[in-house]
Amino acid sequence: MQPLSTVLLKPGEADRILAGHPWVYHGSVLRLTQPTPDGELVQIKDHRQRFVGVGFYNAKSRINVRVLSPDRVEVDRAFFEQRIRAALAVRQRHMPNATSFRVVNAESDALSGLIVDKYEDVLVVQTSSLGMDQRKPMILGALQEIFSPRAIVERNEVASRKFEGLPDANGILAGSLEGPVAINLNGLQFDVDVLGGHKTGLYLDQQVNYQRVADLARGGQVLDCFSFLGGFGLHAARAGAAHAHMLDQSADAIAAATCHAAANGLAEKCSAEAVNVFDWLKAHTLTQPHEKILPRWDLIVLDPPSFTRNRASVPDALRGYKEIHLRALKLLKTGGTLATFCCSHHVDAGLFQDTVLSAAFDARKILRRVATYSQSPDHPIIPMIPETEYLKGFAFEVVR
Ligand code: SAH
Repeated sequence: MQPLSTVLLKPGEADRILAGHPWVYHGSVLRLTQPTPDGELVQIKDHRQRFVGVGFYNAKSRINVRVLSPDRVEVDRAFFEQRIRAALAVRQRHMPNATSFRVVNAESDALSGLIVDKYEDVLVVQTSSLGMDQRKPMILGALQEIFSPRAIVERNEVASRKFEGLPDANGILAGSLEGPVAINLNGLQFDVDVLGGHKTGLYLDQQVNYQRVADLARGGQVLDCFSFLGGFGLHAARAGAAHAHMLDQSADAIAAATCHAAANGLAEKCSAEAVNVFDWLKAHTLTQPHEKILPRWDLIVLDPPSFTRNRASVPDALRGYKEIHLRALKLLKTGGTLATFCCSHHVDAGLFQDTVLSAAFDARKILRRVATYSQSPDHPIIPMIPETEYLKGFAFEVVR
């Protein structure tokens, strides 16, 4: 093994790394012992020269080192194969029936900068750090060995690559692929556009929640807001909802949701509309003086995109969250259920629930919390790395 350059940490900066957080910020670094090309493997030592771990170096990024191991490991194809197999075992243990899922979730799987999603026999890879990006051939080799996939696609159009000095990239890296990939989620069929769809094709992090929320649908009228391909609406329709109506501002998503309803034999129980949810909810809750809203929904799902980009945008985001909750609560029947999600890392579960309760106060509703949700287990949460936890949700019944 080649001798590695050393990144020396300032006093007090080693503990967080030793405790398992893999990011060494620029501000934590005392010095680099020799000039080192970006993307190289380096060793990290504390200010007393005690070994802390190894990781990928990049002076261009605010995260100077992304730690890979507390040991002096060789980072080769075998290393990636071993890490990916370990990550796969976690999914097989916690989602034994899933055939499409996130195989590698970056920091959650001790592979900062790497995401691998499995859509049946097609893999989608995202490398958001320079060190990972430079090792794509090794990573592909390991993935071929483990999965023998039909195709491997890269979806490298994420903003975070810019901070690492990497350009956008999108395309087929191995094998061949034509048209969408037909996948199975909890027994429902979805066609996924892995080269063009949101994220790497769809929101795999809600897989477990689709089923749990659907179990609350019980013969009722369901409104799936921010539906994308209709994950919640279709699961609810299959689980016995009388009808599911899906809303998303993307006409493509709504067209796809309609096709999926038909492909799953649920066309008669489903409808979908390409609209702005804020406008739709406003239009349906607007009343003349002395006019009352006739609530007609039994289950409303709110799964908006993250309204925050950073901590500074949190107050605006909370106003947005509050508005949709207030209007949704006005549209729910007494005894009905609100299933609501927040995927912003900057809004934690407590703040999110406070926002829902403040909307409930304005709507003069009392809520009973009947479920709490998190991201599916293929997006593991490592509490020592708070950034790995982002999706939270609740189901509330309207008591009165
Ligand atoms: N529930 C979906 C994921 C939702 S992601 C699922 O399980 O797959 C957020 C979705 O909200 C995206 O599909 C996006 O197109 C849509 N969206 C964002 N802003 C919107 C708005 N103001 N009105 C309607 N849809 C919106």
